[in-house]
Amino acid sequence: MPATPVPPRPDHQWRLTFLGTGPAWRTPELGCPCQVCSTMRARGERRTRAALWFDGPMQILMDCGPDVADQLEAAGVGRPEAILLSHEHGDHYLGLDDLEAFRRARPAGGFEPIPCYATARAWEAVEVRFGYLLGKLLEKHTALPGLPLSGLGERMTITPFKTGHGPSAPGSVGYVLEGSVSGNRRKLVYTSDFKDLPEEPPQLNRPDVLVAQTHWFNEPEINRPSHMSLQRLLSYVARWQPTRAVCLVHISDSDLCPGEPEGAYLKKSPPRNPLRDPKTGRPFPVPRCQAEWQAAAESVFAAHGLDMPVIVPRDGQTIEI
Ligand SMILES: [Zn+2]
Ligand SMILES: [Zn+2]
Repeated sequence: MPATPVPPRPDHQWRLTFLGTGPAWRTPELGCPCQVCSTMRARGERRTRAALWFDGPMQILMDCGPDVADQLEAAGVGRPEAILLSHEHGDHYLGLDDLEAFRRARPAGGFEPIPCYATARAWEAVEVRFGYLLGKLLEKHTALPGLPLSGLGERMTITPFKTGHGPSAPGSVGYVLEGSVSGNRRKLVYTSDFKDLPEEPPQLNRPDVLVAQTHWFNEPEINRPSHMSLQRLLSYVARWQPTRAVCLVHISDSDLCPGEPEGAYLKKSPPRNPLRDPKTGRPFPVPRCQAEWQAAAESVFAAHGLDMPVIVPRDGQTIEI
């Protein structure tokens, strides 16, 4: 895949590139005949493992799943100045080894390891797999929820916050990125995969942009993998009041679509009490593709009195803030 030339970022803006916007096994999932996967396949759509490129006072890679080499190549970006890992599930860190390409393209001794941040619990898992990268490709830093990350200099303040993502990822965090653009404060909140938050620090209030996991459209009867649904996210959006945009990522194929028999798919659970159109009282149709997700998200926000823009980015989509 050839690199797309990226125009320079205007000084007065931050730029977010949604490298990947999909779930742990991508969508369409391999061989899956469900309505979401077949609709996406028919439309040529694809969501790879969730990751974000932040271009502002620093260039930062947020999460690093197994699609990262293709994602960075497609985005036409180079070595990040820092890597933020949200948690210790494979779809968020298994691409770290591919970043060796940056070291291999330098002369011997000419590469500075990239600062890489994760919580101590997340490092336990990451280090088992990629301990050999430490000190060579990656400079290990421990992220402590509530404390600004150290070692990043003065250009930005980045603060991790604890997220609840179930017992298989006790090291899960999101990050608040704060800095100044042409003298104006800017704030981005990036959630990891999460079901809830053990506490909500005031820093989460009124970000310019909230990038949030939206694994399902409707909250399922059984929230087995501890993920966020659009339905459950609404109360967080209402409390935090992002001012410029809410961006929905990590979108999966796990909503049970009408006509799909219950129990036919391990990954699908029927909704507990589906989102309903206030005009008709009927459940909103479950979105299956990009256009349906964007339209559904806008309708749901409007129905709940949320008047900020909501964006369902495609892989590779860029927004400026
Ligand atoms: Zn994930
Ligand atoms: Zn996860």
